[in-house]
Amino acid sequence: MKNKPIFDRKNILITGGAGFVGSHLCDELIKHHKVICIDNFITGSEENINHLLKHPDFEFIKHDMSEPLDLEMLPELRPFKVAFQGIQEVYNLACPTSPKDYNASPIETLNANGFGTRYALDIAVKYGAKFLHVSTSAIYGEPLEATPFPENYWGYVDPVGPRSAYNEGKRFAESLVTHYRAKHHIDAKIIRMFNTFGPRMRLTDGRMIPDFVKNALSSQTLTIYGAAEDRSTYCYITDMIEGMIRMMNSSETGPMNLGNPETHKINEVAEYIIKLTNSRSVISYKPHLPYTAKQGIPNIRLAREKLGWFPVVPLEDGIQKTVEYMRGSRAITLDSYPH
Ligand code: NAD
Repeated sequence: MKNKPIFDRKNILITGGAGFVGSHLCDELIKHHKVICIDNFITGSEENINHLLKHPDFEFIKHDMSEPLDLEMLPELRPFKVAFQGIQEVYNLACPTSPKDYNASPIETLNANGFGTRYALDIAVKYGAKFLHVSTSAIYGEPLEATPFPENYWGYVDPVGPRSAYNEGKRFAESLVTHYRAKHHIDAKIIRMFNTFGPRMRLTDGRMIPDFVKNALSSQTLTIYGAAEDRSTYCYITDMIEGMIRMMNSSETGPMNLGNPETHKINEVAEYIIKLTNSRSVISYKPHLPYTAKQGIPNIRLAREKLGWFPVVPLEDGIQKTVEYMRGSRAITLDSYPH
């Protein structure tokens, strides 16, 4: 069955839909389409999609994408009439993402990028669906100098290093998408996402902003793994979701960088979070953890030209919304933190 727009609401499949980025994508796409969300909860959570579970156009399937998936065999999907209507779009996000997570689950990370991407692509081939693969700035490896990465930079990556399950896994996935596109003539696209933040990041997932907020709220030390002058980039989640949907709706195949090219000193972000939370926390510095790397800066010229996309949410506004969410999150009572 081909990708014919004969229905007013498309059937859209999102792998990794119960994670941080995936759940925001579900929220946006459900406004106009039917959404099938696949997740095995290795790093995502039901809490992120709880509010959608009763929506008639939303279905959650608990499944490990490293295993094949026959959508037409699932009784829960009967209302989506998959055999008749098909699937029009697939967003492929399933993959442990925080360095702490892929360091703890390297084989699962490789499987998600290899088998998981392959089975998601097979679904796109079967239904002639458009496919958007979410890759990462990590494929560029360690930035050798502080210049923004353009898409034609090939990367400086250690294939057997402590980050290799993630960055080599994502490089393999990009190659798979590229060769499926050529062989099966599907409209398969790649975006390379740079550091993105916002509500629903797990407080304990080890990424910088949730770590800072968690520690600031409990007056613990905010640890910066690097030096005081290190800079990073931060894209707010609503900007990123807008870029992903524009990419899916475009005729571009990418790879296309999506991220916020503005750099900010990490210690200034930490200080701002301390101020916002009225915290007594102090900042300390430690060397980089072996499985983390300096953040690269995106060159987003291509996204500006081809998608008319660029981030609009100021860092301070994004951090305020994130702190508000994390403060209000049920998981947060100051006493519940493991100190
Ligand atoms: P996340 O960990 O919150 O989400 C990943 C989701 O994928 C989780 O819900 C997890 O349970 C699910 N998952 C993992 N393996 C799976 C499998 N085998 N089968 C089914 N589900 C599986 O991370 P995120 O920040 O939301 O990242 C989403 C995607 O964006 C990832 O592919 C990641 O590499 C990419 N990305 C994110 C960032 C960022 O800053 N957030 C930056 C670059 C790239």
